[in-house]
Amino acid sequence: MQNEIFDGTLNLSSDLGWPEMKTLLLEPHKVLILTHKNPDGDAVGSALGLKWILDRLGHTVNVVIPDDSPLFLKWLPGYDDIIVHDRKPANKTSRLFDDCDLIICADFNTPERLGSVEPLYRQSGKKTLLIDHHPNGEPFTKLNLINPAIGSTSEIVFLFIEKLNLTEYIGTEAATCLLAGIMTDTVGLKVNCSYPEVFETVAGLMRHGADKERIYHEIYNMHSANRMRLLGYSLNKNMKILPEYYTAYIALTISELNSYHHRKGDTEGFVNYPLSIAGIVFSVLFTEQNDHIKLSLRSTGKFPANQFAQKYFLGGGHLNAAGGRFLGTMKEAVDYFESVLAEYREQLSANQ
Ligand code: 5GP
Ligand code: MN
Repeated sequence: MQNEIFDGTLNLSSDLGWPEMKTLLLEPHKVLILTHKNPDGDAVGSALGLKWILDRLGHTVNVVIPDDSPLFLKWLPGYDDIIVHDRKPANKTSRLFDDCDLIICADFNTPERLGSVEPLYRQSGKKTLLIDHHPNGEPFTKLNLINPAIGSTSEIVFLFIEKLNLTEYIGTEAATCLLAGIMTDTVGLKVNCSYPEVFETVAGLMRHGADKERIYHEIYNMHSANRMRLLGYSLNKNMKILPEYYTAYIALTISELNSYHHRKGDTEGFVNYPLSIAGIVFSVLFTEQNDHIKLSLRSTGKFPANQFAQKYFLGGGHLNAAGGRFLGTMKEAVDYFESVLAEYREQLSANQ
């Protein structure tokens, strides 16, 4: 079957032709939607957006996330119905894998990103549709909708439904979740959205009932005072600038986090601030976890945060937004980071 191409300049490709895709969505299925560990706004937004649409299409749908998401996503319609694998008895999730006949993986491109859910997925052997926008993936399924040129998986979900002429199934709840996903992956419609089609998608979602101002407010203006003070501390006392490498980083230990009564998600977005300093093209946030150091990496221009994360910090992601981890102490992590930066000096300099 010849692949039809999205009518705009952004290609959506799939191993299955559009007519078969449509048939798949019009026949009732027991669908299990999965997304990656440390689920962010696009992960949760795309998964819940799809769930609302598929519900309306008559499917039976469950969403499983490996672990909990930040508090600023919990207002999303349908959040309370999500099954958080780490919190539920494991047999609940495993029953959902047994019962479903279609798995949809949203916002990741390798099963390892499923964390504690990965073994269940690998054993399941069920038909899987992958919807994602990460680059350099090795699709692990025959059915895939992958487009790294698109800023968020949530936007791909909208384009997919639009392509199949099924937008009548997008209600206010779905539109809200999808716009929240677009909003978070584009940092409030500021990055990864320099193509006109994304604003047509935003307009489309608003027409389907999404309240853009409210979504922005819920995501960006509902933090705690402690979170704001932790941000102040991070930027004032903690941020280290390495001018020779056009790089800045923030490293927060568990005890520093605790002294600001840190709650999951509080440090989300901190990594973006150093990039607003003239000449800084690479910013990294290190946060100490119980058994590792977590890294969030952001870059500007063509500096490949994902390659860097993959090469040195067991991670990956997008060109300008990646994640990774380090097994060791915070001091070892930052020392190692500073030592490997030298290799990238020219590339860093070229992007300032
Ligand atoms: P964050 O800094 O928000 O945790 O992650 C930024 C981006 O990198 C997200 O798109 C996320 O999916 C991706 N990412 C985070 N951690 C990892 C990882 O360990 N492996 C890979 N491949 N991608 C990651
Ligand atoms: Mn995403």
